[in-house]
Amino acid sequence: MRETVYYSGSAEFFDTHAHIYDRKYTDCSTVEDILRRCRASGVTSVLIPADSEETSRAAVDMANKYDGCEGIALYASVGVHPHEAKDYTPDTEAYLRSALEAGKTQKIMALGEIGLDYYYDLSERSVQREVFGKQLELAYEYDVPFILHERDATGDCLDILRSFYKAGKLRSLPGVCHCCSCSLEASQELIKMGFYIGFDGPLTFKNNKKTPEVARNTPWDRIVIETDSPYLTPEPNRGLINEPCHVAYVCAKLAEIKGVTIDEAAQITYDNGKILYGVK
Ligand SMILES: [Zn+2]
Repeated sequence: MRETVYYSGSAEFFDTHAHIYDRKYTDCSTVEDILRRCRASGVTSVLIPADSEETSRAAVDMANKYDGCEGIALYASVGVHPHEAKDYTPDTEAYLRSALEAGKTQKIMALGEIGLDYYYDLSERSVQREVFGKQLELAYEYDVPFILHERDATGDCLDILRSFYKAGKLRSLPGVCHCCSCSLEASQELIKMGFYIGFDGPLTFKNNKKTPEVARNTPWDRIVIETDSPYLTPEPNRGLINEPCHVAYVCAKLAEIKGVTIDEAAQITYDNGKILYGVK
């Protein structure tokens, strides 16, 4: 049975990563339903990330069409995920450039998801690295934060980021390591380079010892919370379709780990989300 969080405090949550255009929702929920449940759970801001040109367009359309619906502020990112790196063409890059040019006027706050995924290997690794590098150049050129997706590719990912860092091509706050699954050591290096660390459902999973340890060692000013909806549903709803309204479970777990109240954790992560994505 679905146990929906109806958070009753006064704090507001920022789900900094939710793919609410996903096809998984089309049979069961409208965007209005999702946003209504956000409102009932204290979620007042949501960033909709992209993973391909198609979903970039969907994210931007949705953020513009539904911004303010149920009182929820919506934002978008554009970018090509490592899974889709094989489909990155000059036309894709031209689209990304035009989107980044429009930027905040179209509610486009960031580039992403970009990065490396050697777990699924859906694009050849050399192609993933090349497309990651091209998009890092775009983030530098357009001076936008980026959303990093990294899975089982920490070594190569850090190598590439280090080279951009040393060349002075990373902003002082370059972006967020979304759904952080790397080691404590790697997370510390990312934090030194200026990254935020994004925590979501896996933080609440009972068998996960690594992520709480990373959270414990991440300074407050670098933490954001996210759901990665429709995936990675937090406990106790694991197995169901995820929605931004569940971000309160992530926040509650974070508060428990850090020894603060959920309201304090919500406030800090909300403010961090705004700084990360340059939201006024
Ligand atoms: Zn995602």
